[in-house]
Amino acid sequence: MNVELVYIKLIHIIYLLASVTFILGLKMLGNPRTARNGNLLAAAGMTAAIIGTIVLHHGEVSGTVYGLIFGAIGVGTVVGWLTAKRVQMTKMPELVSLFNGMGGACAALIGLVEFEPNLGDSTSIGVILAGLIIGSVSFSGSMIAWAKLNGTMRKAIRLPKYNVLNTIILIGIIAYAIYVITSGTPNTMHLYLLFVLALVYGILFVIPIGGADMPVVISLLNSFTGLAAAFGGFLYNNQVMLTGGILVGSAGTLLTFVMCKAMNRPLQNVIFGAFGETEATGSGSGPQGNIKEVSASDLAVQMNYSSKVIIVPGYGLAVAQAQHVVNELEQLLESKGVEVAYAIHPVAGRMPGHMNVLLAESNVEYDKLKEMEDVNPEFNQTDVVLVVGANDVVNPAAKTDPSSPIYGMPILEVESAKTVVVNKRSMNAGYAGIQNELFFRDKTSMLFGDAKKVLTELVSELKNLD
Ligand code: NDP
Repeated sequence: MNVELVYIKLIHIIYLLASVTFILGLKMLGNPRTARNGNLLAAAGMTAAIIGTIVLHHGEVSGTVYGLIFGAIGVGTVVGWLTAKRVQMTKMPELVSLFNGMGGACAALIGLVEFEPNLGDSTSIGVILAGLIIGSVSFSGSMIAWAKLNGTMRKAIRLPKYNVLNTIILIGIIAYAIYVITSGTPNTMHLYLLFVLALVYGILFVIPIGGADMPVVISLLNSFTGLAAAFGGFLYNNQVMLTGGILVGSAGTLLTFVMCKAMNRPLQNVIFGAFGETEATGSGSGPQGNIKEVSASDLAVQMNYSSKVIIVPGYGLAVAQAQHVVNELEQLLESKGVEVAYAIHPVAGRMPGHMNVLLAESNVEYDKLKEMEDVNPEFNQTDVVLVVGANDVVNPAAKTDPSSPIYGMPILEVESAKTVVVNKRSMNAGYAGIQNELFFRDKTSMLFGDAKKVLTELVSELKNLD
């Protein structure tokens, strides 16, 4: 057997093993206990695939090209590592969006680099154009999502008839791409025009979307990037790229569906950019009235004599970095014989799994985290529900007010508990920008203040009680 054949066989084995690590890694990400190792396993598989490709690649590669490859990998590794290390948990969705955009840009660049005028073979042209278009949409869309999440672009921008405009541009891009593929005379002018149109579509696709629906968009763009990478794998006949792309594409699509269900947004609304009417502003619109306040010491007494307490964490818990003190509160209550659980809404916080990650950081036991469907029937046997920095995810308007932007979103039904205590700093609205009628209900009391400060006070009051 000649050396080249050995290399080819070896590289296929590496690709197969790497693909297996991706699948196992993804499976392990499904449970917080195994997620970290799953991530490491898949990263190891990806490293092996990259090194295998570079080392075992057949054909002449000049020293300059190797220099460029390793230089780019070096810069990418340092920048990626430092950014991921330094990012605050609350800024994670922005980072995901940015990294996802980079993936889209890579797929688009593959299209630009691999295209040759008069390529002839229409399958190759189709694959190149598909990767280029989807990657470009994903890149520019992700950059807009990133700007929206980091506050650079706060307002949703709606051009006149933006739905119709977006649909026309999308159909135009597809029709133009089909023309280029079938015309038999593709040239670089067509390629660059499609590239620019796809970038523009990505921008127009995301700018009208505001407020509470951004996670759906990010996971949808994530699935686009996966699909674009899969086209790259198809083009290069590279199995590991194909598997990786398909896994990202399908995981992103599934997550999109899960998020749509959790936020009660039909997918067609996402695709045609017709949602997310509101932005977080001031105290928001909606019910007003009298509220009751409770002090940390009164709440401590109430909790001390409870049999069951459920804590509802929300975005404010992350802002205040109160995850450690909330864990301390839980342990203290349990040492006093109170049963404690956490109610986790699928879109609490600012990214899927935000609360799980946050509470895992303070070593809260995973089986204490209860998902919405499991915990909702438990509220009516609960003495005190303590809502910490959550707002939209406990807003009853989602069930009662058809005019509300969150109408139809499943919520944590905290009102069935005997008492509800809401901790936040003011009467300001949450992410969807609307007031919460829960705060004005008879069984609700407000505990105002920064979550970390207030919970620390609560813990010390509880420690003073027998
Ligand atoms: P919300 O954004 O609805 O409410 C958070 C509340 O926390 C605010 O009302 C704020 O009130 C309070 N808060 C802020 N800082 C503090 C602090 N330091 N201490 C105490 N309270 C504080 O959060 P939810 O988690 O209830 O809902 C998440 C929302 O975000 C949903 O609308 C969801 O659709 C959306 N979303 C979710 C994503 C996801 O993937 N999870 C991604 C993007 C958006 P005050 O200012 O008065 O303190």
